[in-house]
Amino acid sequence: MLERIAAGDILADALTRGTLLAGGTWRPAAGRDTIEVRDPASGGVLAAVARGRAGDVDVAVGAAADALASWRGLSPATRADLLRAWADLVEARGADVDALERLDVGRPAGAPPALGASIRYFAGLVDKVHGRSLPTRSQTTLALTVREPYGVVGSIIPWNAPASAFVNDVAPAIGAGNTIVVKPSEEAPLAPLLLARLALEAGIPPGVVNVVTGYGAEAGAALAGHAGIGRMSFTGSPQTGRSVMAACARNITPLHLELGGKTPQVVFADADLEAALPHLVKSITFNTGQICVAGSRVVVERAVHAELVERLTRAFEQIRIGTWDQAADMGPLISARQLERVRGYIEAGVEEGARLVTGGAGRPDGVPAGGHFVRPTLFDHVDPAMRIAQEEIFGPVLAVIPVDGESEAVDVANDTPYGLAASVWTRDVGRAVRVSRAVQAGHVHVNTVGSAGVIGAPFGGYKNSGFGRTLGLDAVEEYTQTKTISFDGSL
Ligand code: NAD
Repeated sequence: MLERIAAGDILADALTRGTLLAGGTWRPAAGRDTIEVRDPASGGVLAAVARGRAGDVDVAVGAAADALASWRGLSPATRADLLRAWADLVEARGADVDALERLDVGRPAGAPPALGASIRYFAGLVDKVHGRSLPTRSQTTLALTVREPYGVVGSIIPWNAPASAFVNDVAPAIGAGNTIVVKPSEEAPLAPLLLARLALEAGIPPGVVNVVTGYGAEAGAALAGHAGIGRMSFTGSPQTGRSVMAACARNITPLHLELGGKTPQVVFADADLEAALPHLVKSITFNTGQICVAGSRVVVERAVHAELVERLTRAFEQIRIGTWDQAADMGPLISARQLERVRGYIEAGVEEGARLVTGGAGRPDGVPAGGHFVRPTLFDHVDPAMRIAQEEIFGPVLAVIPVDGESEAVDVANDTPYGLAASVWTRDVGRAVRVSRAVQAGHVHVNTVGSAGVIGAPFGGYKNSGFGRTLGLDAVEEYTQTKTISFDGSL
């Protein structure tokens, strides 16, 4: 697959010349070192990408700074046209972008993310973000606000959904008139490289979109701490988020953090269990549970607890495990390190006294040797204080917590450091309203999960899940800063 995409193709361009994109030119790292990108299903090497370091970040930030004046000087409508041209190419190459991401991440086929639609959504917004006129004390004064780009912005993204993460940062950032330097994850950088190349092909000028591949502690830390960065966006773990925040503090760089989650799926006794079940299961098995909004806790009213656990068990035992190119429900975890982490949590759940209903830390049957596969694992009678109920596992491990009534359900749902998303399952409209208002999360879903087809929903967390919003009008606005201009007309 990689050969087919790369052969004589635009990804080959990046892979052969070097995967650092600065000022429209692909180049190797200054130190000429590379990082091996591995196949999660076999452990084999897929590709080698440049190991960018501080000097390479400096070159990319310099290229972005050189491109800034002419890019922000274009009319928003022209920038929107260029975003649409990018969307056209992303859609034309949609199957390749999707296959590349699935290969790199290890995800079996499913509905691909609507990347082109997301870019078009931002294209439609960028000429509609504007300031306002202000009231004045005298008729001789006129004052207004304008929204201006920050300049060169930085983006550090994780490996679990790299294509969406790339598009969701780049499109609003450059649409608003900024230029950008992106540091993809060393675990899954391939789809972002293809998307960056398509942006260039679409006519987005050299230097507007720059990419530095590399390790977090090297390229990532250098980008977050670079004095030339006007605003940072970081998506990843809370632990890394803290160090990015500390690096930004040194230069007082404004920051947007999209961190982890411990999403509760709150199921009341009056819920339509039949309808809820596939969502409850998919929410924790999609992408092998490696999704920030993975519904990793089922908080269920005791009256339907036994029935729900029985249904969940049957569904978990039917999950088909396979590779990115197979008809399967769940692939491998991204890396040996992630496998070790997830197994560690499964062992911790058993040690802390939760009931292991199905799954476990053992290797699933019939999967390729060398791959980082784990079984979907269901724990029942989980105490809310246990580690498997408190900490983000980032794997297909579901904790069922029985509760008595609405008030306890809300308390348990809110009883983690996180607040990214939540779902509430009930047929009682009054309860749906009360609970969705009481749960501390950036997005609460009622009788559904995910975006449920909503267009333009801002995405982001409460509490330790971060601050700032990706997607929606908020994303474009957050890539601008407000300036007030006042005129004294009496002179
Ligand atoms: P991670 O924090 O290990 O890495 C994220 C990115 O940060 C990578 O590009 C990495 O190279 C870089 N990085 C690592 N150390 C760094 C440092 N010291 N300075 C600067 N950059 C550094 O996270 P991950 O394992 O790639 O992704 C999983 C985490 O991401 C989970 O916690 C998940 O919940 C979170 N996530 C959040 C969202 C969201 O939108 N809220 C979306 C996806 C993933």
